[in-house]
Amino acid sequence: MPIKSRIRAIPDYPKKGIMFRDITTLIKDPAGFRLVIDGLTQRYLENGVDFDVVVGVEARGFILGSALAYTLGKGFVPVRKPGKLPADVVSQEYELEYGTDKVEIHLDAILPGTRVLLVDDLLATGGTALAAAALVEKVGGVVAEMAFIVNLPDIGGERKILDKGYRVFSLTEFE
Ligand code: IMP
Repeated sequence: MPIKSRIRAIPDYPKKGIMFRDITTLIKDPAGFRLVIDGLTQRYLENGVDFDVVVGVEARGFILGSALAYTLGKGFVPVRKPGKLPADVVSQEYELEYGTDKVEIHLDAILPGTRVLLVDDLLATGGTALAAAALVEKVGGVVAEMAFIVNLPDIGGERKILDKGYRVFSLTEFE
């Protein structure tokens, strides 16, 4: 059974009209989790995307990002919700459908010139990934690529990210 069929769809979550793609059913299955980590590992062992560190976005980006960093022999840096990181941070606000949200990274987590693989579970509007990329750039890093399990191309995030000149990779898509 491939990755896609192990992802559960939850209608009307977190609100009416949204079809939530739930990856917990994928990664609780050892074969499913292995497919995800092996698929991403394969890509970054083989295709020559050059990076030094994996940056994962709270919270599901931590699950993928840390396993991937381990298989690739890289370090892992968390991008967190506000107020969670103990040392000096850099913040980035981003737009939600209603209001704004914020993400943070440690000021000294990434040295200038460090190449970063940005990881999260899912790409929808691209707002989260672009905010995380802005953080990496604020501290002097370079985003080598953004990697996701799921891309929802119809929502337009992938287009927006590609138009800004970033590279995007995903293991599967839903309409
Ligand atoms: P975006 O910022 O609109 O691209 O939304 C992506 C962020 O929201 C990621 O951090 C995802 O974990 C989360 N997200 C949005 N929609 C879904 C979904 O259907 N399933 C799982 N996570 C989602």
